[in-house]
Amino acid sequence: MEYETVIGLEVHVQLDTRSKMFCGCPADYQTAEPNTRTCPVCLGLPGALPVINRRAVEYTVMTGLALHCRIPEFTKFDRKNYPYPDLMKGYQISQYDLPLALNGYLEIDGDPDLEYGGRPIGVERVHLEEDVAKMQHFPDDADGYSLVDVNRSGVPLMEIVSKPDLRSPEEARQYLTSLHSMVQYLGVSTANMQDGNFRCDANVSIRPAGSDIFGTRTEVKNMNSFRSVYLALEYEVERQRRVVEDGGTVVQETRGWVEDRGVTVSQRSKEYAHDYRYFPEPDLPPLNIGAEWVDSLQSALPELAPQRKARIQAQYGLSEYDAGQLTVSRAMADYFEATVALRGEAANRPAVAKEVANWMTGDLSYLLNQDHRDIAACPVSPAGLTELLGLIADGSLSTSLAKPVLEQMYATGGPAAEIVREQGLAQISDTGEIEAAVAEAIAANPKAVADYLSGKETAARFLMGQVMRITKGQAQPELALQLVQAGLEAQRP
Ligand code: ADP
Ligand code: MG
Ligand code: ZN
Repeated sequence: MEYETVIGLEVHVQLDTRSKMFCGCPADYQTAEPNTRTCPVCLGLPGALPVINRRAVEYTVMTGLALHCRIPEFTKFDRKNYPYPDLMKGYQISQYDLPLALNGYLEIDGDPDLEYGGRPIGVERVHLEEDVAKMQHFPDDADGYSLVDVNRSGVPLMEIVSKPDLRSPEEARQYLTSLHSMVQYLGVSTANMQDGNFRCDANVSIRPAGSDIFGTRTEVKNMNSFRSVYLALEYEVERQRRVVEDGGTVVQETRGWVEDRGVTVSQRSKEYAHDYRYFPEPDLPPLNIGAEWVDSLQSALPELAPQRKARIQAQYGLSEYDAGQLTVSRAMADYFEATVALRGEAANRPAVAKEVANWMTGDLSYLLNQDHRDIAACPVSPAGLTELLGLIADGSLSTSLAKPVLEQMYATGGPAAEIVREQGLAQISDTGEIEAAVAEAIAANPKAVADYLSGKETAARFLMGQVMRITKGQAQPELALQLVQAGLEAQRP
């Protein structure tokens, strides 16, 4: 039988605010020593009162707006009760029936293997809650113990829940990539998946093709990369198909992805909303989000990736591919536009833009990838790259030697001109110096000279290569070729 896959994603995004969701503790939990970012509120001490972080509310509303959601005027926070040591208070402050944003959508291109094509994927809701403490378990130790780090407790967490509109792991990947780019461009989160700033739980079910009744779903957790989400979904779809084809029924449950084995395993049976005994948080006032506030946030929304890609492509006359590469992250696009602007008058000339694009997507990306660094933390600034390109443009440095100079700039953070001077890499445009190298090359290669004189013009290229070798790549190439040809012609009897 043919089956159709149904997927809905719940994405948790840690908001990049300075302080936590309901207290003044710094939210920089990743770099701080364990349990040094705590106070009576996030430790859950009796009598401590929460205060809503305005910035976190704004970030959530901005995300809701970018997802074309409705922002209801009245929202509130609720207590979600469950007993687990990662919850200091025994409940998490979340939003139950009145979230900050409702009923939006996110466009995807669609899975080319399916017939649905590009279309909007429904977003059910975007709500705000607090993160929980981080636990580390040591079950293999003689006594078996766990450690709790409360630093993460109370960090603002935004949850984005999609409708069950996705129809394959590939579509889930597209939705996630696009959402990830969106929150980054909005500047509301660093969205680093490895660090757990952007986490995804995937709900998946299958049904006979053509059916309009949803099948029983499982919820898969524990994926820490887009690739794991994709693989976990592929595995889970196949597992459910086998269960059904063997005459069984899919059990509604939470399953965990085990990365190194490439499988999902049952963790616990599905919990329901009533298990959590939700009720309105009595220590926080309901929130009224007026139209004025929403309007001002709407008008302050930055340009997002799809718009920026289209603009950059048109404005700088680049290919769609280049524009795509240059807008994979907001930091990348900012770096590109800053560099092109610094190149001055020529700023809008497609040639300059293309040159910057090539260096960025080529050598610079290579260096960044090698030490797993984001361009936002690139040791070569847009000003540094501009200086390097200036040296190439005015003939002081050859393109081939610019590559090792860039590597040095990357490694030492030093300015291009200094590196060129110190290492004696400047391009040689001095005719006399190049002529000396030409004479040396001609004297050392009588066979190539004879070949040339008998009509084999490629021999000139070979000798040109020898000149470049003698000058350690520093001879100005066109001049070198001219002088090689002149030198060869002078050999004619
Ligand atoms: P819960 O909070 O219990 O996880 P929700 O109703 O909020 O349940 O739904 C969670 C996610 O599950 C949503 O993203 C939704 O799209 C998805 N979902 C709901 N039903 C199905 C289904 N039958 N198959 C796949 N995904 C589903
Ligand atoms: Mg869920
Ligand atoms: Zn605190």
